[in-house]
Amino acid sequence: MNEVSIRIDRKSYASPPTLAIEGLHIEVSASEFVAILGPSGAGKSTLLNLLSRLDQDYEGSIVFDPDVHAKGADAKLAFVFQEPRLMPWLTAQQNITLVLDESASSVAAARALLADVELQGFEDAYPGQLSGGMQRRVALARAFAIEPSVLLLDEPFASLDAPGAQRLRELLMKLWERLKPTVIMVTHDLSEAISLADRLVFLSARPAKVVHAEPITLARPRDLRGDEVRALHAGLLDAQPELLAGVEGAIVQPSNVEHGVSDG
Ligand code: ADP
Repeated sequence: MNEVSIRIDRKSYASPPTLAIEGLHIEVSASEFVAILGPSGAGKSTLLNLLSRLDQDYEGSIVFDPDVHAKGADAKLAFVFQEPRLMPWLTAQQNITLVLDESASSVAAARALLADVELQGFEDAYPGQLSGGMQRRVALARAFAIEPSVLLLDEPFASLDAPGAQRLRELLMKLWERLKPTVIMVTHDLSEAISLADRLVFLSARPAKVVHAEPITLARPRDLRGDEVRALHAGLLDAQPELLAGVEGAIVQPSNVEHGVSDG
């Protein structure tokens, strides 16, 4: 069953006049982890803003199937941005109970989530007392606190050092495998996308539309720097060298053609 049906006929901005998305269709299954890739400026953040309903000014439809959720209930959406977006005047724990309530059970849930993201002992720390990586982990815990059915991630590992990013990816996968929300993640990093997602969706340059989709069936956990991820990465770009630039199907010429040799 499709949990999210995305059909964006047109999304434009008035000033400066910009057609950001045109004719973009993606169907996402319940509990599927989809990674969206595309060149900078393609319209990926625009797409996430539409999915989150922060921006409702577009032509088309985005349908979250109510049958996938508790009878008729709306999809519960969580959004993790590039920056952690924590309230600086609230502690780590309070940043999480903020999206719940102040009941004893919410406090217990917040503390358990902080332990899940390896922040036991930092419940009462303020964001300014935490490293960038720790702040991201609080943001991740906050996203899972509402037990979302759909989780939107906008470059959640950007600007972290390599070990910090890897740790956060592992924590994301641990929480995802426990709760299995549908995930739609924007990333620039093809290896990262292969190591995490069930399916990669490549967008064209602006106006964004889907140019290629690639299912990833490698068993989990996957090693970002392992042979299988490397082989898939190389295979995809060998077959379609301009895929990350948003150009599909630039099939590599056979070598005799490439070197100008003809059989005539
Ligand atoms: P990406 O996330 O793929 O880098 P964006 O979705 O941020 O791309 O932007 C897509 C296009 O829409 C870009 O040309 C960008 O300049 C334009 N754009 C994004 N937000 C606005 C806005 N609020 N007003 C005008 N143009 C915008």
